[in-house]
Amino acid sequence: MDKITLSKMEFEGHTGCLDFEKADGQKFIVSLDIFIDRIKGCYTDELADTVDYAAIFDVTKEIVSGDKGNLIECLAQKIADGVLKADDRIGKVRVTVSKPEAPVKGIFETMEVTIERFRKEFVVLSLGSNLGDREANIAAAEQALRELPGTEGFRYASIYETEPVGLEDQPYFLNTCVGFYTDIEPFELLDRIHVIENDLLRTREVHWGPRTIDIDIIFYGDKVIMKPELTVPHPRWNVRSFVTVPLKELKDVDIDHPDYKEVSLYRKRDN
Ligand code: ADP
Ligand code: MG
Repeated sequence: MDKITLSKMEFEGHTGCLDFEKADGQKFIVSLDIFIDRIKGCYTDELADTVDYAAIFDVTKEIVSGDKGNLIECLAQKIADGVLKADDRIGKVRVTVSKPEAPVKGIFETMEVTIERFRKEFVVLSLGSNLGDREANIAAAEQALRELPGTEGFRYASIYETEPVGLEDQPYFLNTCVGFYTDIEPFELLDRIHVIENDLLRTREVHWGPRTIDIDIIFYGDKVIMKPELTVPHPRWNVRSFVTVPLKELKDVDIDHPDYKEVSLYRKRDN
């Protein structure tokens, strides 16, 4: 990724935990590293083909001077959100907020926070359960997903009861899909999904046994990942109706696959 840096911009702000910080204000220094997947302007030499530096400066200034919060951590988050919103070509931003006159006794150059945030992508997961209290397992998985940091805009599909496929001698499944925006990177999201799956196993089953919940990543924005530990789009997303039917409730997708199979579905919960 290419990087544009706006460094050590100085603003007057009122962010701070102490009353006099909020009342009197103090100096804030903000640096931004803005990451773009190949700046088109490198090839065209056109101003419109890169980020408007002045606009980013103004957005940052407006956020810093208008903030009435306690923490520079939270101010940094607001700046990251504002910068990502200001130009949708920006894929990632690193924000450093520095408070050189922080009300701390002693000798120091500055006190600062640095955060990195990615543009949020729309992710679709497929959820399935055929053991224990299947509805509760799905609900617990949905709740755990909502609690992940950096996620928002949740959308739910209906829950369907479906006949098992492949290994047929097992209970019927409940299947659904969940969609949300997240800035958790794909492999970290996979790790967090494994934690959620393991937590549900641990609390629901005494002995290690068949899984009470399966969570698969179907889409991660438009990303294509071809690793054995993570293949996205999910390699079999378009071959079974227990994925495609709830999926279609969340995202407009074309299903055109020679091996596509209808599986009988019974709607248990409307989205
Ligand atoms: P399955 O979902 O195929 O029934 P598991 O849930 O046990 O079986 O997944 C096996 C492995 O598949 C996981 O450990 C994971 O690393 C890998 N995997 C590859 N692509 C994906 C994906 N898109 N979503 C979830 N897991 C995936
Ligand atoms: Mg799985």
